[in-house]
Amino acid sequence: MTQTKKTVVGVVAVQGAFAEHSHVMHELGCEVVEIRQPSHLQEFDALILPGGESTAQRKLLHDLGLFEPLRQQIEGGTPVLATCAGMILLAQEVREGQGSGVPARHAQFVSEYPTFATMPVTVERNAYGRQLGSFKTVTDFAGLGKVEATFIRAPYAAQVGEGVKVLANVEGKDVAVRYRNMVALAFHPELDGDVIHRWFLDEVVAH
Ligand code: GLN
Repeated sequence: MTQTKKTVVGVVAVQGAFAEHSHVMHELGCEVVEIRQPSHLQEFDALILPGGESTAQRKLLHDLGLFEPLRQQIEGGTPVLATCAGMILLAQEVREGQGSGVPARHAQFVSEYPTFATMPVTVERNAYGRQLGSFKTVTDFAGLGKVEATFIRAPYAAQVGEGVKVLANVEGKDVAVRYRNMVALAFHPELDGDVIHRWFLDEVVAH
């Protein structure tokens, strides 16, 4: 009997929609490691940064001592699938959208809890306002065709730097981008089957 080594996927699991990603990757035959503390870190074939609340995630990643080792893995080329809050975590610049309200002591927070800042994009968070924060649509995704996309108080890539490829655009907003080993999505692919995860494993991780 031959055994091929399973793809090991680290799912950052400090807050948010990590369980759904773990489930999808497990169903696709991957070994899944949920990362909650530094002892869970190892060399991963791929990483997932789930949706949730980016401010809470930033604080927790720093406080738990996960931020710097993860940043190094991402910068070192480990393939990353980042969704929603995860997109915010990868962005070099984050700006507040109309749905954010006025964050308290914002400047202090930003300097104490920086993002990974490994992707040259400016992301606007809570870009769709509070009322229109959640919706579902179908969009063209580069190399995949039509995919369902569920947005929940979503960000989008307001500006993209050199070397960033736009994979999907919804109503004039770039909602899926790739830069080197990093794929960032404004929506939640884990809520609409496994199409994007499959694509990520085939086109980004396996290459
Ligand atoms: N609004 C959230 C944030 O700014 C992101 C929402 C999500 O991940 N679904 O962190």
